[in-house]
Amino acid sequence: MSTGIQELTVETLSHELTGWDYDHDNDPNAPPNIEAELEKLQPDHGHNDYSQLVAIPISEEEIEAASKIDYVKWKQERAEKPHKDGSFEYAEHSYLGDSLTLAWDDGQSYVAKNKPFKLQNGLEVTYGQINGLAGDFYGTVNPISDVKDLHEQQQRFLRAWYWLAQDTTRNPAEAQKIINTLSTEVEMVQAALDKHQDPSTVYPKIPDVNVQLQLYTIARPAECPSYLELAKINWDHFGADARTAYNACHSYALQVAADGDLQLAYAMNAFGDHFLQDSFAAGHMRTPRRKLHGSVGAADLCAKFMHDEDNAIGLSVKSPIGRSWHTYGDKRLLDKEDISNKNEAWNAVRASADEIYSAWTTKKVPACPNYAAWEYAPILTEVSSIVAPLFRPDGQRRKDIKKRCQAKYTNNYWYWSTAAEIKLSGLWDYPIKPTSDCKI
Ligand SMILES: [Zn+2]
Repeated sequence: MSTGIQELTVETLSHELTGWDYDHDNDPNAPPNIEAELEKLQPDHGHNDYSQLVAIPISEEEIEAASKIDYVKWKQERAEKPHKDGSFEYAEHSYLGDSLTLAWDDGQSYVAKNKPFKLQNGLEVTYGQINGLAGDFYGTVNPISDVKDLHEQQQRFLRAWYWLAQDTTRNPAEAQKIINTLSTEVEMVQAALDKHQDPSTVYPKIPDVNVQLQLYTIARPAECPSYLELAKINWDHFGADARTAYNACHSYALQVAADGDLQLAYAMNAFGDHFLQDSFAAGHMRTPRRKLHGSVGAADLCAKFMHDEDNAIGLSVKSPIGRSWHTYGDKRLLDKEDISNKNEAWNAVRASADEIYSAWTTKKVPACPNYAAWEYAPILTEVSSIVAPLFRPDGQRRKDIKKRCQAKYTNNYWYWSTAAEIKLSGLWDYPIKPTSDCKI
């Protein structure tokens, strides 16, 4: 397990015991074969994060539109207008980052999707593909946000980057296989979009690729955990920790740009943008992921249930530039009702890449953490919802897990029993909806 945990235990014991300070490893109610039993409680729909898709700019007119703050909305409206012959525009879709227009070191601008980077180990991947592989598939046993010093955080980022971009014992073959497997999902989402269906309707039908992805990554050396092991220590993707992780990657990439290597800087920045994009998923905003972690996995499963609930029902958010919207989660980024969130996420990713380009041209880097991307991201202290959070930052749990809008809390709970009750309730089966106590 990660080394960051010890320090945190000392910190939490300095105040009164809360639900998450209990000795959950010795939960008297948990079954003896807890790991196998936990397997049965896992939600059965798909994997965590993926499908940050968006239509890509194609025409001159579109490239101009892509520099405006409401580009994604503009694109959506245009895609919905039938042509004179009655057919709909064929919208090409890819990862969010692939819709960027990147100013290149040859003086030209390219749509990211059409300009893959060739990494040191020979792996050829686009900006958007790096967004998808970062963190979820390439990381180390040492989460970036576990250390406080920026230089140390950057060193941790560089080790994660090594496994994606420099290691030749597993790559480029492994990453290529992962991308191919994930493309099934992209194709099914694309097919839904072409039929004007919300992509979230296809998620329950997508074959479970987790088994396949785990097979590709299970034999990795100890420093670089498998796909499922990475998910157990993924607090770099949540809340304030995601900001720390992005800032570490982005600050390093800015320096690489200022030192003259624009392409490497973009590629490294694409890694960091994963954490930026996760910051737009409702389930990543208020889930106390770092706290909801333990050696057997019951706490982590509770974090997943909270993540899924917030993702599905959504949160109301506002950004420092003064925009307000309702955001849903990972699997809804392309749904029509989530267009505002996609628009703001796109603005943030564009600001992130633009900052890299200006560091390359001016040889100056902005001070950490005053980065342009955060101007578009939800302010974490100002998220709100009709749903009472399943877990609060003070360690208390929603008293009645079956009453989503009842803001009554308790310290009297065990993770194992919570997870079992959640699964049994059926209220976390897809699609997850507000319960009858919610006034909507
Ligand atoms: Zn993530």
